[in-house]
Amino acid sequence: MFEKNTSERVGAEQTVPDAARSEQAAVSIRHLSKSFDGVEVLRDVDLEVREGDVVTILGSSGSGKSTLLRCINWLEQPDRGSIHIGGQRIGVNDAGRPMPVRELARVRARTGMVFQSFNLWPHLNVLHNVTEAPIHVLGKSKTQAEAHARELLEKVGMSPKADAYPSTLSGGQKQRVAIARALAMQPEVMLFDEPTSALDPELVGEVLSVIRDLSAEGYTMVIVTHEMAFSRAVSDKVVFLDKGLIIEQADPETFFTNPSTERVRKFLEREES
Ligand code: ADP
Ligand code: MG
Repeated sequence: MFEKNTSERVGAEQTVPDAARSEQAAVSIRHLSKSFDGVEVLRDVDLEVREGDVVTILGSSGSGKSTLLRCINWLEQPDRGSIHIGGQRIGVNDAGRPMPVRELARVRARTGMVFQSFNLWPHLNVLHNVTEAPIHVLGKSKTQAEAHARELLEKVGMSPKADAYPSTLSGGQKQRVAIARALAMQPEVMLFDEPTSALDPELVGEVLSVIRDLSAEGYTMVIVTHEMAFSRAVSDKVVFLDKGLIIEQADPETFFTNPSTERVRKFLEREES
């Protein structure tokens, strides 16, 4: 019942004119709303992420940041609105019907997600954590997958640990492997949900530095973070969510030095103290 209603309402949004979207957007979100138990946690969210851009999402706990990220790759289904990834609508096909599972999987695979809690497979070593999905989902050969995995492990500074098991790694090392694992699926957009929040303070820097390197390489990324200095340094655009509403989106200079809302000014003051 819930699913059917959701699909119908999502389908109804087909009326949003395509011309309103930029063809070049890596992610285009229009009029996105989502409720849990009758409480609206995302309210009419509009967001464009251009190819190669880094967008950081800031906001207090419970403001809807994770839900927004999870809607982008359909881990949560929106109640209303549309999300396009690389110009392709996710979750709903051209006829306005729910996407067949296989097609949905293909669109979802255009994004890669890194969670706060790493989620590495404990029974696989580092190399095999990275090659598992490319072999079994993309159908790559073992040789191909391992060669690519080794390049990615090099990129995140984890080559020396290729044979190690996750339980022997620090949190920062696990997160760097998780990043390599997501990159191995060659996503067009990387989504990070508080990638450093579970780390001891001395391990935060190594993970942020890997993400910063990726941004320099031109990866398109949407990052939920509480690291203000990082957000300021790495973002093309900073988005602030407050109770499910985007109340501010601006370039980092403007956002951090001259925010237009009292709410953001207060938030930044609190973060500084
Ligand atoms: P943030 O990531 O900014 O802390 P979330 O997106 O996780 O916020 O959550 C926004 C609100 O939605 C919170 O009030 C949270 O309790 C609620 N929420 C999130 N996921 C669920 C869910 N699966 N079921 C019910 N409520 C949820
Ligand atoms: Mg969250």
